[in-house]
Amino acid sequence: MKIQELVAKNIFKQSGYIASEKTCIIKMDANENPFTIQEPLKKVLRKKMLEVDLNRYPAAGSPDLRKRYAKYFGVKENMIMLGNGSDELIQILCMTLKGRIKGVLVPVPTFSMYKIIAVNTGNRVVEVPLDKKFDLDVKAVTDRIKNDFPALIFLSSPNSPTGNLFSRAKIEIIIKKTPGVVVIDEAYGTFSGQSLISLLKRYDNVIFLKTLSKLGMASIRIGFLIGNPNIIAQLDKVRLPYNINSLSQIAAGFFLDYEEEFSKQIKEIIQRREELYTGLKQIKWIKTYSSRANFIFFSCAFDSNHIYSRLLAKGIAVKNLSILPLIPNCMRITVGTKKENEALIKALKSITPKQGA
Ligand SMILES: *Cc1c(COP(=O)(O)O)cnc(C)c1O
Repeated sequence: MKIQELVAKNIFKQSGYIASEKTCIIKMDANENPFTIQEPLKKVLRKKMLEVDLNRYPAAGSPDLRKRYAKYFGVKENMIMLGNGSDELIQILCMTLKGRIKGVLVPVPTFSMYKIIAVNTGNRVVEVPLDKKFDLDVKAVTDRIKNDFPALIFLSSPNSPTGNLFSRAKIEIIIKKTPGVVVIDEAYGTFSGQSLISLLKRYDNVIFLKTLSKLGMASIRIGFLIGNPNIIAQLDKVRLPYNINSLSQIAAGFFLDYEEEFSKQIKEIIQRREELYTGLKQIKWIKTYSSRANFIFFSCAFDSNHIYSRLLAKGIAVKNLSILPLIPNCMRITVGTKKENEALIKALKSITPKQGA
């Protein structure tokens, strides 16, 4: 068997997403919430989970959760769909919306899964660099729209890994100029204190993505797609019937039951983000960018591979972005607990440019 003759060319050529498997004492690489659920709440969740009949299929399409989360996001029930993480929803979008040219447009740098999923579902990918402030280059985007006619444009706002919000006016121009759909991924929206979800009232070609992964429940894989019912009806044909398992459905219900507890954690993370930002600013060889998410993006004056391995040796995992198209030697650090942030700053201060040269 010649595997390269059987696998789609574009899949064979690409390297795929590499999820970190390193076990570290301090995990600051995946933008998770650093706080876990404490007793007695954990006990409440455990009890609910024990009541599940594991011999039965889960509720197809998660109807109860759709109802509850529609209310939570302030939309109608036929405007929301649940996914096994928003990654699955990105995949469903890429499988369903292909337009005439099977194309997806993404700014760069951004969340790497857009491109990986688009390629794996047989789409062409058009990449448009962000401007110097990491905002959208509207002219470049609209030029490519004219030429390439992408069915989907993915905009993560706040953007990962850069941490900034895109300008609302620029997003609106793109929504108006594209014949396709603009997906606004608000995975980090809660940390920014704002959402553009009201745009749904004005445009029929905009879709929002949300997820519980960054809010304290990465393990259960729950994401939300919110948009025009006409689009949702088509996407729902592609969604696998039992995409959300029963235990995840219970946990997603639990999230809403105790939403206040999670909100408190988010507030604390936002406060810690500002402390971490101040701490990073004091280190001379680091250029820090302000963030509206639960992570901070910065560039280093010397080789970030070296800094990455020094931190790893101290039990701290971060996201090393040494080969970004715009600027070299960058890193993305997830906001941790007070203790974790202090340990990180201390570790960074112990690394000197001389050692990295
Ligand atoms: C983490 C992340 C996601 C993926 O979320 P899951 O729900 O865990 O699949 C989607 N978009 C962006 C921008 C992210 O950072």
